Amino acid sequence: MDALLAWRRRTEEKGRIWPFLSIFFLILVLHLVAILLFARGFLLTKTELPYYSKCSDISQSPCFQPPHSLPLSDKRDTPHRHPNINNERCWTKPAIDRLVIIVLDALRFDFVAPSCLFEDKKPWMDKLQVLHKLASREGSSARIFKAIADPPTTTLQRLKGLTTGGLPTFIDVGNSFGAPAILEDNLISQLAQNGKRVVMMGDDTWLQLFPHHFNECYPFPSFNVKDLHTVDNGCTKHLFPSLYEGDWDVLIAHFLGVDHAGHIFGVNSIPMVEKLEQYNIILEAIVDGLESQSGPGGLHENTLLLVMGDHGQTINGDHGGGNAEEVETAIFAMGLKKPPSALMLECDTSSCPLDSDGGIVCISSIQQLDFAATVSALLGVPFPFGSIGCVNSELYALAAGTWNSEGSVRGICQNNSSTGAWMQNYVNVLCINSWQVKRYIDVYSTSSVIGFSNEDLLHLSALYAQAAEMNLMLYKNESCLTSLPDLRMQIDAYFSFLESVAELARSKWTQFNEKTMGIGFGMMLISLLVHLLAIRRLGKLCGVYIVSHARSGISFGLTFSCLIVAIRACSFLSNSYILEEGKVTIFLAATTGMLNLRYSIIKKKMLLEVGIIRWLSFIFVNTFTGGWVCSLDLDSQIFY
Ligand SMILES: [Zn+2]
Repeated sequence: MDALLAWRRRTEEKGRIWPFLSIFFLILVLHLVAILLFARGFLLTKTELPYYSKCSDISQSPCFQPPHSLPLSDKRDTPHRHPNINNERCWTKPAIDRLVIIVLDALRFDFVAPSCLFEDKKPWMDKLQVLHKLASREGSSARIFKAIADPPTTTLQRLKGLTTGGLPTFIDVGNSFGAPAILEDNLISQLAQNGKRVVMMGDDTWLQLFPHHFNECYPFPSFNVKDLHTVDNGCTKHLFPSLYEGDWDVLIAHFLGVDHAGHIFGVNSIPMVEKLEQYNIILEAIVDGLESQSGPGGLHENTLLLVMGDHGQTINGDHGGGNAEEVETAIFAMGLKKPPSALMLECDTSSCPLDSDGGIVCISSIQQLDFAATVSALLGVPFPFGSIGCVNSELYALAAGTWNSEGSVRGICQNNSSTGAWMQNYVNVLCINSWQVKRYIDVYSTSSVIGFSNEDLLHLSALYAQAAEMNLMLYKNESCLTSLPDLRMQIDAYFSFLESVAELARSKWTQFNEKTMGIGFGMMLISLLVHLLAIRRLGKLCGVYIVSHARSGISFGLTFSCLIVAIRACSFLSNSYILEEGKVTIFLAATTGMLNLRYSIIKKKMLLEVGIIRWLSFIFVNTFTGGWVCSLDLDSQIFY
């Protein structure tokens, strides 16, 4: 302290404090700009909007046309006034009555797909035989999809993505700190609002995300990765009796065994194979239970079964990042009523390799982004406000067996083939889908600070206008015989708009801006250079000399600091760790602080300063962790 005061006196006397301060100021500004630029490129940010879709919103869409008996002029003036239609149903005509969702956590695509699709056959392949058998059955209404997840591939972010139909980023502005409950519009809250009864069992992450939405729930703690069976046994205990009850509309069972087996033993291990074999037996029993009640008037006459993963995993059982192994998962879907075979051919985009037993297993593809929109359309509830997905034609068509064309969109105008009628309905679903996505993009760009560029918005508006105009022409067709090629063209026009939106959103919310990050990094290097130059010139400029009082040789402090930095650097090699690092950083900082305190007390040096710093860090650490206490359970989910 004395040295500082003496230095101040000296510099003030010499009038040299200003050059000294200006260098510090320059370094500060350089540092701030560098950090801001780097963070702007690295921290993907999305603004959560507080809006919810409602049934009545559909009156603002151009998608419900008046019956053909009205004069044309009336149609243009009153495109939305159809209380009868709106009262009968919400946004889309429900295609299924009930939905069973079995989530198998960290389900790799090669756990589900037949091994003939891959070059090498591995021990963990072909274990879920029941799915191959169902998908290859003749005239089957079951299909295996390769489902592509968007990173980050952690359970929490994926469940959020699946239910909101959006792309969760690391920083979703608006999400309250420490409260994991989803505040954005989402599939589960739409189901609850529209009178659908939802039952949940398994991984308790669901309950944290949706605390008040389930009619019944049986959550099981998921934090103990060494426990392969508690959650799975809890699921099966409640799942099988529920299959014979009529008091729910949507049933969700989330199994964690495969994820935990991956984390502890890796994919190529005996516990993993045993888990998959156990799931095969469980799935067989579920399908038997559903099929036994799928006859006319049965509980599961109009039920759809989905068996799906939330993300994949690497061979070591890691997930969180964007590797192919982590983002590729699977969805197996099975309608309990057979859809018309012509329709399945119409929607087919799959490849069909022969499996090991000579059966044909078709593999289609779906984006997880499309899940919320597709399930909303199937169940007839409004699409979540922020959903940017597209109703997947193949998954939607699997429920076509339950769809009867009477009272279809065109009212008195019936198409003569069932395929045509279904496609007309699908065009209308896509019309609603595109209108809802366009509405979200418009609202998002006006309410978010970091929105989309004007160029991108104009391009999207042009695509939307083109599709909407084509649709208007289609509706003007008085003959009621819209040809299949026309319908296909219309579907393609909507696809092109929806695909462009998804592409733009991915570039904005899932890809780092490398240019901005590079400039930020460059500025940081420049500021370090200025730092070095300033230190070297400080003596000349202000008459200050840096005196090293450390004795020569490597001290314990230096070794310890290097060790801490090395541990911290190594920790970045694990990608599952990405959301835990805050706590570890605080732990390392606190440990270093404690050791310094001990050193100061022993050496009786700068006790007052060290004491103040310790108190300040104690207060800060508690303030930060206070925010995390509420989400401790959430943090424990990150590995699952
Ligand atoms: Zn998971």
